[in-house]
Amino acid sequence: MKTKHPIVIAIDGTSASGKSTNAKLVAKALGYVYVDTGAMYRTLAWYCLLKHVDIHDAKAVGALCRKWKTKLECQEKDGLRAAWLFVDGYFPEKEIRMPETAAAVSHVAAVPAVRKWMKQTQRDCIQFGNLVMEGRDIGTNVFPETDYKFYLDASLAERSARRAADGVNENLAARDQRDSQRAVAPLMIALGAKVINNSAMTSEQTSSLLLEEIRRMLPASVK
Ligand code: C5P
Repeated sequence: MKTKHPIVIAIDGTSASGKSTNAKLVAKALGYVYVDTGAMYRTLAWYCLLKHVDIHDAKAVGALCRKWKTKLECQEKDGLRAAWLFVDGYFPEKEIRMPETAAAVSHVAAVPAVRKWMKQTQRDCIQFGNLVMEGRDIGTNVFPETDYKFYLDASLAERSARRAADGVNENLAARDQRDSQRAVAPLMIALGAKVINNSAMTSEQTSSLLLEEIRRMLPASVK
């Protein structure tokens, strides 16, 4: 296997399949930078709501995305280095988790101009070094060239229970359906991706499995 530098670990999957928890654990263990691409789409959804841009108006959403003032920043907190997208100098950490934002996000994420902008911005994260990037289209579209591709899934009942345990009641099936059926870069399993169904696994077990696979593939020089 050829070694490409920097290394990108792509973790895709359905909503609430444990991508964030496990991607963070893997990034911490390897000392790589964690990138939550869902947070970037959520930030745009929140910004549309803030600016009263109709999330169903693809032209207006695309226009806003092309001109918003953003900056990628890499920050370290609790032993985890992570890249975040700031807009107008602000990272809306709490706002992007609100139900209104969650309900809006898959609509703005389906806009082709948005996906083009996000892909470029997400690829720019490589400036921070080796990455663990989680999302829906990282292995298929953002970094299709990486050898490290994973797809996490769990039963709908288990995923809904996990969200409910976090105090979030959301129609995950509807969001997954919109994410899987959009025309551009839909959620799907990348060719060559290792699929992990973690319905009956703890995050410790899932992240151990991920790390085992990754370490088996990493060239000796970077292990
Ligand atoms: O992962 P998270 O639930 O935060 O993602 C929020 C939404 O952002 C997804 O439901 C999807 O619509 C969009 N998304 C995407 N492509 C990604 C990451 C997220 O379309 N790579």
